[in-house]
Amino acid sequence: MVTTQRQKPVFRFAPSPNGPLHLGHALSAFLNQDMAAGGRLLLRIEDIDLTRCTPEFEAGIYADLEWLGISWEKPVRRQSDHFAEYHAALHGLIKRGLVYPSFLTRGQVRARVSASEAGGSPWPRDPDGSPHYPADDRDRSEGERGRMFASGLKHAWRLDMTRALQVAGHALYWSETGDGKTGEIAADPSVWGDVVLSRSDAPSSYHLSVVIDDALQCVTHVVRGLDLFHATSVHRLLQVLLDLPQPIYHHHRLVTDASGRKLSKSNGDTGLAALRGKGLSAADIRHLVGL
Ligand code: GLU
Repeated sequence: MVTTQRQKPVFRFAPSPNGPLHLGHALSAFLNQDMAAGGRLLLRIEDIDLTRCTPEFEAGIYADLEWLGISWEKPVRRQSDHFAEYHAALHGLIKRGLVYPSFLTRGQVRARVSASEAGGSPWPRDPDGSPHYPADDRDRSEGERGRMFASGLKHAWRLDMTRALQVAGHALYWSETGDGKTGEIAADPSVWGDVVLSRSDAPSSYHLSVVIDDALQCVTHVVRGLDLFHATSVHRLLQVLLDLPQPIYHHHRLVTDASGRKLSKSNGDTGLAALRGKGLSAADIRHLVGL
């Protein structure tokens, strides 16, 4: 049988260069490599947060992955080289009335939430614990929006979740093979409220760029940590709105520290470069992450 490049399963490891990689990233990279055996493995640098991502951290990613024995296809896609593509998709959603400009600052949102909660009314929160964005800006007239733009107010672009769900028009599911719930998972994007798709200081959001890139790169299998399980609900909705194919998802267990907390990029002692400096080998790292 003739197998073309296109028909092979395509996996991707997609770290953000905003800190040194740690054992959690090693687990993800190893699983991607192991599951991609016989298929293709891509590396994507997710550096849309221009304030926190640096070339030094990106160089660290390449060094750590090479040391682990991971090999990936070149060239690497770097998201900051593709803002125009994300912008074009955002613009399409704005034209369809699915995305609106939001003007409240974080402080104003916080004040609104505190006032509501002090008055005994709980405020809805997303799965990461952040409050849903208040409804203030959703139904402003074009004239009012124009005046707010003209006055130089900073704004973000948010998905109008209610309208987006109406346009999607049917229940959403994704196929899951990971370490949590598996099978056909019912997506529930509404738990996120009106998610941000673009900010004044970051022209695209994680949600928007990840679905566009997975589609553009013909990714068939997304293997990533269980911390992103619920984000997949938003990804499914965006895939439907933007008419993009859906990959199969595999959300894997997280590596935790001694007190059971998820590792963070500031956990110096679980950083891969630090462990390499102590003389550990790639095989030691496989063992440490339970593979
Ligand atoms: N860039 C994300 C991170 O470093 C991973 C995104 C994904 O795999 O979808 O956490």
